[in-house]
Amino acid sequence: MNCKICDSAQAALLFTLASGAVRVRRCGECSFTFVDHVVEEHKLESSVHGIEGVPDADPISATKWQRRMQVYQRACGSLRGKRILDVGAGGGGWLALAKAAGAEVHGIEFCGVCRDFARTRFQLELNDQPLESSHWTAQRHSYDLVSFWDVLEHVNSPRRFLQDSLALLAPGGKLMFSTPVRDTWFDRAGVFAYRLSGGRHDFLLRQRYSHAHLQIFHSRQLRELCTSQGMRALYYRKIFELTFPVKRYLRNIYGESLMVNVAAWIANAALTIAPVSNKVLAIFERN
Ligand SMILES: [Zn+2]
Repeated sequence: MNCKICDSAQAALLFTLASGAVRVRRCGECSFTFVDHVVEEHKLESSVHGIEGVPDADPISATKWQRRMQVYQRACGSLRGKRILDVGAGGGGWLALAKAAGAEVHGIEFCGVCRDFARTRFQLELNDQPLESSHWTAQRHSYDLVSFWDVLEHVNSPRRFLQDSLALLAPGGKLMFSTPVRDTWFDRAGVFAYRLSGGRHDFLLRQRYSHAHLQIFHSRQLRELCTSQGMRALYYRKIFELTFPVKRYLRNIYGESLMVNVAAWIANAALTIAPVSNKVLAIFERN
């Protein structure tokens, strides 16, 4: 597979994870690091879950959206009267907050359970048409804000996704997003464990790369990609953030047990003392 950013054919195998099921390549030209796999974006694993899998059903998300709103308002002012589109809107928590702040809100969400949740909890009707469909391309240059939280790592072509999002913005419109980045201590520890064990200990790296997480950007490269598309950074920071509480991640891997509860408590204490940046939170303005 050629590099998804610069199209170079020089993308050598970097890691082989999950007993060979996940192949991670690094571009020899631009260092972009991606999984050699194409997904049907409508059928991503994250789209198949019950109500407990909707991130907005967890109380942790309300705090997250309030923080996002503060960041937006400090950088860009009020959302009142703004037209906004959230791509991968989940259970609609962010859009509900934006609506309460006076915005006209629209959202794309492929997962039916999430759309039902948004309708029931927030009275929001989310759309299931992909960003590249005529439904959205007919609305070029009409949005003041396009947001996408933890979506960029899931799409087949992040460059194309950014271009499609940018095309929807009115002059002066903003893109606001978060995505995991690989220039973190978590990733360095993962690479170290992988190399030291001759590829056997791939547990940490498998939390980053999979058939759902198709790429993890270096924060510098992501910023450069956005500016090369004609955008100006208004806010660009590495942050620490989890979609679900630590205990839930551990429970998914090891099941429910006293050890998992103790491990979650220790992990939470460690993260409170020394938070590990794992994502970028960014706002870009269209030039
Ligand atoms: Zn490249």
